[in-house]
Amino acid sequence: MIIDDHYYDVIIVGTGAGGGTLAYKLAATGKKILILERGDFMPLEEQNRSNIDIFKRERYHAPEQWYDISGEPFSPQTNYAIGGNTKIYGAALLRLRERDFEEVPHQAGISPEWCLKYADFEPYYTEAENLYKVHGATNGDRTEPTHSSEYPYPAVSHEPDIQKIYDAIANQGLHPSTIPLGLTRQEDDPTNDSEVSGIVPALKYENVTLKNQAKVISLHTNPTGKVVKGVEAEVAGQSYLFLADIVVLACGAVNSAALLLKSASDQHPKGLANSSDQVGRNLMKSLLSTVVQLSTKPNSGSFQKTIYVNDFYWGDADFPYPMGHIQNSGGLLTDIIFAESPPVFSVVAKLMPGFGLKQLATHSIGWWAQTEDLPDRNNRVRVENNKIHIDYTPNNTEAHDRLIYRWTDVLKNIEKSLDGFHSGFLHPRGEVPLQVMANQCGTCRFGDDPKTSVLDRDCRAHDLDNLYVVDGSFFSSNAGVSPALTIIANALRVGDRLIERLK
Ligand SMILES: Cc1cc2nc3c(=O)[nH]c(=O)nc-3n(C[C@H](O)[C@H](O)[C@H](O)COP(=O)(O)OP(=O)(O)OC[C@H]3O[C@@H](n4cnc5c(N)ncnc54)[C@H](O)[C@@H]3O)c2cc1C
Repeated sequence: MIIDDHYYDVIIVGTGAGGGTLAYKLAATGKKILILERGDFMPLEEQNRSNIDIFKRERYHAPEQWYDISGEPFSPQTNYAIGGNTKIYGAALLRLRERDFEEVPHQAGISPEWCLKYADFEPYYTEAENLYKVHGATNGDRTEPTHSSEYPYPAVSHEPDIQKIYDAIANQGLHPSTIPLGLTRQEDDPTNDSEVSGIVPALKYENVTLKNQAKVISLHTNPTGKVVKGVEAEVAGQSYLFLADIVVLACGAVNSAALLLKSASDQHPKGLANSSDQVGRNLMKSLLSTVVQLSTKPNSGSFQKTIYVNDFYWGDADFPYPMGHIQNSGGLLTDIIFAESPPVFSVVAKLMPGFGLKQLATHSIGWWAQTEDLPDRNNRVRVENNKIHIDYTPNNTEAHDRLIYRWTDVLKNIEKSLDGFHSGFLHPRGEVPLQVMANQCGTCRFGDDPKTSVLDRDCRAHDLDNLYVVDGSFFSSNAGVSPALTIIANALRVGDRLIERLK
């Protein structure tokens, strides 16, 4: 093993929403920072997906296999690149709602309280929205939490046909809203991600070094096991040891947990930072289903998603439990996750014989139904023989089904009131498979009790003095909205704690 001859103040592992943002936040301190990232820069043509190619099986899947609860291998849809999953995400950047930080009864159990509250995150949500240039508006949605300032950019306008659908939803007494989107305002690379807003600005500082194609495989502690001393990585087939005062993991909720478990030692026999036996447990990934509405008029298949509806977020008169969030998918030729639901299109194909995939996609409006899954200690990341196992059984499924039924009724009413739809047709739906790990979170949850949580409220490991985790792992519960803005805001928050510590 080669021991790197530099000594760093901070090593950050991973450049996604958490790691890329933290690198940006710490860069101006002048401290010596090393960023280790297993992926590489992603060419622009790979990022701008707007053709039928995205329906090709397993595009944007990692070139490795994980194993499901029955031991069957699968290739996870997760992106190893500078920018991580934000290079392929939808950039819908919503805040969690105030109640998401509280204990909330769901039909299938309890969504637990967080140790910090919305007010603790609010200033960092604002900072995150400014950094990622979020285009949004705070009017409309009754679940919208309080903002100390308006979004930095106005909301994106709906396509004319989508505006008609928006109006038809509002006419049913519902409260459609415009999705807040992180955009660059550059034509060649419109989506704002953690490469653009995190890594690129961080690398302008001489004190920041990035090593790509550097896969971290283990963390090593001092003899007492209280401090991480070395970060072992494979760089271009060669094994290296990097040394630093502070080590921050931001590999994504599955890979950070797996790395801690793989770093077991005599002092940490169950895995690093795992005296609580919580590392890897409570994996959440959201219940996500696609619902298709067939249109008689073609669309381009590549427009921006702009509508969301949260009227069912906390439940309704007939079902007094949270159901979740609805979003239009935007053009189906640009939606990577939608392309993971081939069963949906096989149903549509039966309804419209003779149509090819592209014609089906351009004659459909796609909708996402998203419901919170609840933390369960048996839903977990495990490492066996150095392989990653994902033991995951969905829960809270009745709430999710109810959301889909509610939404299907709304779609039927839209079709009665607007031209351009196949009224009376079915609404094919499909749940995303296990492979889609887009919203993975919760595997190293934060909290005040070292017996029940892995990280403290600063996202520092209870068991080690200098180890932090700033990706989606820290979530105490999932939410009905997607996690990226909260991961970004949390990285900015932890960044402030680290800046204090580094003084
Ligand atoms: C197709 C898709 C669409 C999405 N759309 C949205 C959306 O619209 N809104 C939203 O809020 N969220 C969305 N998400 C989810 C969002 O992208 C994630 O929540 C977010 O990127 C997670 O951030 P993270 O820092 O936890 O991990 P990631 O962004 O996954 O970053 C982890 C990084 O660590 C690197 N890494 C992993 N292991 C190692 C290792 N051993 N050594 C070195 N580097 C390593 C990876 O290469 C990667 O760069 C979407 C996700 C996908 C896949």
